[in-house]
Amino acid sequence: MSHFIKTTRNRVKRLPERAAYDHETIYKILDEALICHVGIAQDNQPFVIPTIHVRRGDTLLLHGATTSRLLQHIQAGNPICVTVTLIDGLVVARGVFHNSMNYRSVVLFGVGHILDDPDAKNRALHALTERLMPGRWDDARLPSKKELKATTIIELPIESATAKIRAGGPKDDAEDYEREWWAGVIPLEQKFLAPQSDPKLRSGIPVPSYVKNFKR
Ligand SMILES: Cc1cc2nc3c(=O)[nH]c(=O)nc-3n(C[C@H](O)[C@H](O)[C@H](O)COP(=O)(O)OP(=O)(O)OC[C@H]3O[C@@H](n4cnc5c(N)ncnc54)[C@H](O)[C@@H]3O)c2cc1C
Repeated sequence: MSHFIKTTRNRVKRLPERAAYDHETIYKILDEALICHVGIAQDNQPFVIPTIHVRRGDTLLLHGATTSRLLQHIQAGNPICVTVTLIDGLVVARGVFHNSMNYRSVVLFGVGHILDDPDAKNRALHALTERLMPGRWDDARLPSKKELKATTIIELPIESATAKIRAGGPKDDAEDYEREWWAGVIPLEQKFLAPQSDPKLRSGIPVPSYVKNFKR
């Protein structure tokens, strides 16, 4: 199994037994997350911006308006930090100090670069579109030259990353296990509901099967 090297930047110090550095674990979490948060530092002011991502091999693709401050900042070669978080449940402990959440999260670091070539941009947009909705690229209007020009695509080689995972029940103080309070986990599941057609949909257009059967 391949791993990210542990450095002072990505080594989990707090509860290191929850950490994972292998590509497989980290990439699975990245792929499951619908969005990421991108952290940048500009003039000594941190900004954390939510956005859509897709992983392609050992890189992350981000896209947005050419005028986006975030993308311009990345494009200038500044290092960034990206996080994703999946919540699996609420952990209700006997002692409120031990209340927690079950989660799978990733923190990663890298320096991005812009994809200029129109074919490369198209391939990236294809990856972003198909990741969110497999089958959609071949069943919609593709980006025009103008739209392509107005879009910046950033490719971010993942230099360094960590996953941190909490699973299981509450971890209470030994003396509290005999007490009267309920404790346990309330699992959380995120799912899509039935599709709702656009009220402006031309009549006679059925919901395509890739939408009807859409699941994540
Ligand atoms: C849903 C959720 C809720 C949380 N709630 C709390 C809370 O209420 N209080 C609290 O103290 N902590 C909470 N955490 C844990 C929190 O994310 C940090 O791990 C923790 O606070 C330690 O931070 P630190 O900067 O001291 O970590 P350090 O261990 O010093 O971090 C060193 C490096 O480890 C990696 N790392 C740290 N945390 C994570 C992570 N979560 N995922 C992936 N990599 C990581 C990063 O690369 C980081 O640079 C929560 C995490 C999640 C996902």
